[in-house]
Amino acid sequence: MIDIKLTIIKLLNYALKYLDLRKEDLVYFYNVLSNILQIDINEYDFKKINIKQDDLYTIIDDLNDYINAKKLDIIFDEILSILTPTPSSVINKYNDLSIKSKKRAFNYLYHLQINNNYIKKRDIQKNIVVKDNLTNLNLVVTINLSKPEKSNKDIVKSLNISNDSYPKCVLCYENVGYFNKSKSIFKKDLRVVPLRLNKSDWFMQFSPYSYFYQHIVVIKKEHVPMAVDKNNISALLDFAKMYKFLFIGSNADIPIVGGSILNHEHFQGGNYTMPIMKAKIKKYDVFSNINKQIKSSLLSWPCTTFKFVSKSKKQLINFIDSFLQYYKNYSDEEINLISNNNHNTMTIITRYINNQFEVYTILRNNRTDDKHPNGIFHVDDTISFIKSEGIGLIEAMGLFILPGRLKNQLNECKYIIENPSNESEIIAKKPYLENFKPLIDSIKNKKYKNIEEYLIYACRKILFDINVFKYDKDDIHLNKFIDNFCKEKIHK
Ligand SMILES: [Zn+2]
Repeated sequence: MIDIKLTIIKLLNYALKYLDLRKEDLVYFYNVLSNILQIDINEYDFKKINIKQDDLYTIIDDLNDYINAKKLDIIFDEILSILTPTPSSVINKYNDLSIKSKKRAFNYLYHLQINNNYIKKRDIQKNIVVKDNLTNLNLVVTINLSKPEKSNKDIVKSLNISNDSYPKCVLCYENVGYFNKSKSIFKKDLRVVPLRLNKSDWFMQFSPYSYFYQHIVVIKKEHVPMAVDKNNISALLDFAKMYKFLFIGSNADIPIVGGSILNHEHFQGGNYTMPIMKAKIKKYDVFSNINKQIKSSLLSWPCTTFKFVSKSKKQLINFIDSFLQYYKNYSDEEINLISNNNHNTMTIITRYINNQFEVYTILRNNRTDDKHPNGIFHVDDTISFIKSEGIGLIEAMGLFILPGRLKNQLNECKYIIENPSNESEIIAKKPYLENFKPLIDSIKNKKYKNIEEYLIYACRKILFDINVFKYDKDDIHLNKFIDNFCKEKIHK
């Protein structure tokens, strides 16, 4: 049996060191926690114990065992959230630190959210990461073991959820401190900091699943749908200049080509150099005859991406907005790129580096047809078994988040590859493995050396699949697209 009194003493020591617990509050929390955990106390026996951040996970496991054994109606996160500084004290400390250094303030919030287990560090460390040293794209493939998979159909469904639920969605500001057991929403440990972007109110929080280092979500205070437009381009640039050590990007604003949440405006970013940011330039000065103050280039990247660099925020906003409007109405039926009813949009990412803005615009189209019911510019059916969700901005930039189910499924494939004589027997027992036949066969046929190599090439293929100019041999149509824009602008 766990020595729960010792666990509480450890936890209080942990909170003193990692959660800004004040000495004056020790007796108070000793009593509060003992009461919640239904412990009889005969004396106050707090003592100093040397504790490390990683000790949190043994404390959590011990608390969990105790709670289960005692059948208490509480979850361990509640205990940690009680010990977390209140939202206002977090904001005050953040603002104080910001005066000296934005980065210090940012690191404070990041560590606080790891320390109170809002960021699931232990789970994230279990993720499987495959790095690409085969192609020149520097792709990163992660099998995410902490977050459930959502299909495009689920995402369309979530758009139709009635607006009278509370909070209106998982991103709403009203989630701070919210707990609903029946909906499995626990946000008592969430802390956010306010932001002013493009003259409106936003706030920033960390992603509990951290797809990459210091993964943040920047959310509009008002619950309004995602929109890729001039205002939000301006908000992105405001953020990039404020937080020069982070990139920030917006998902597309329509299903299939965007993220999983479309009903609340938000951006994602982090302290990480995405593969796309290391891509070479395919063509320089593509639009320099229209605007000489903006360096514009076409990237050497599987899905058509333009990169714009300038010191002038105003010039960039106006230029990118006009480019966005142009693309939104652009169609080229010969390559099946049809904008009908707003099927065209862009994924926009920016960062502020070497005293200038750098903006990446990835062209997207979400149309479906009889031949491609999941999307014409979507993951091809032959590899959808590794990824069926919409390809959002993180993937479009070359960092792939694959569903956790793959861990076991790929192990089963590995077993089949190593024991080919059992193949039909295993597949008969586990029919879903039928979908994995292309993977199994291509490794058996020595097209790929192993599963990791297959994953890298499959993810590279996904980037080609989502390319809106994918039916465009020799870039004839892409060049026409560029030339037409130049002509339009020059004539105006
Ligand atoms: Zn919302």
